[in-house]
Amino acid sequence: MPPYIGRFAPSPTGPLHFGSLVAALASYLDAKAAGGTWLVRIEDLDPPREIIGSSQRILEQLALHGMNSDGPVRYQSQRLSQYEAQLEQLIADDHVYRCRCARRSFGSIYPGRCRTAQVSADEAHALRLRINTSVIQHHDIGMGAHTWRQNIDYGDFILKRKDGLFAYQLAVVIDDIDQGITRIVRGADLLASTAMQYCLYKAFNTRSPDTLHVPIMRDRDGQKLSKQNHAPELNDLTPAENLQQALQALNQSPISIDSPENMLTAAIDGWQPSRIWSS
Ligand code: GLU
Repeated sequence: MPPYIGRFAPSPTGPLHFGSLVAALASYLDAKAAGGTWLVRIEDLDPPREIIGSSQRILEQLALHGMNSDGPVRYQSQRLSQYEAQLEQLIADDHVYRCRCARRSFGSIYPGRCRTAQVSADEAHALRLRINTSVIQHHDIGMGAHTWRQNIDYGDFILKRKDGLFAYQLAVVIDDIDQGITRIVRGADLLASTAMQYCLYKAFNTRSPDTLHVPIMRDRDGQKLSKQNHAPELNDLTPAENLQQALQALNQSPISIDSPENMLTAAIDGWQPSRIWSS
């Protein structure tokens, strides 16, 4: 078994809110309880969506809660030439094709119109992964078994957009492979992405990591806490209480208020992933 390497991979679209603390904490505790390494990767792939200063802010917020990356923090914006090189490989292996279709010209699933079209490199185009019709079976450590029908659930998906930006699915898989990530712990809103990422692992002939998806947090109206929904940022003045609440959201044994470092040590000792989804 390779040594456990986990990660927390926030997009710098704003400071951390309670929902992102829950995901960060779960990934941290799961890695540490296994004697593993925990890495932070800033997924700053989409400049128009980025809020200036939030990468630094996120790192400060994590540190305030006692969580620091075990290795240098990776920034995806510094990895573009690697993404391009890996994409070239997928093109050479005929996993990828050029697509000129506008998003509005089809429903939610791309019907594969450009699969056999000769789209020239000079024409504005996106690059899509050619998926097949087989089903993907996946067992998530927290959420159990799922079956995905590739052609019905997502179809040929985009790896590089027409505007030249690399897609999250491509970059996340390349970095998870490159950093030797053995288990992905993140919010349940990304469970559906797991299947697409599995297709990419296959295309890269690499074993995919285990996954543990954790509950997403909602506000009083049942809306997912997210940066888009203007979830309030974590209160810097109450890190111990924030940690206590995040542990509670993960269904872990309660831990008394102390320094974040001592609370994390106690939480690592008591970590029970099987309790996360138990009611
Ligand atoms: N960067 C993604 C986000 O902040 C998470 C990526 C992942 O954990 O796979 O939503």
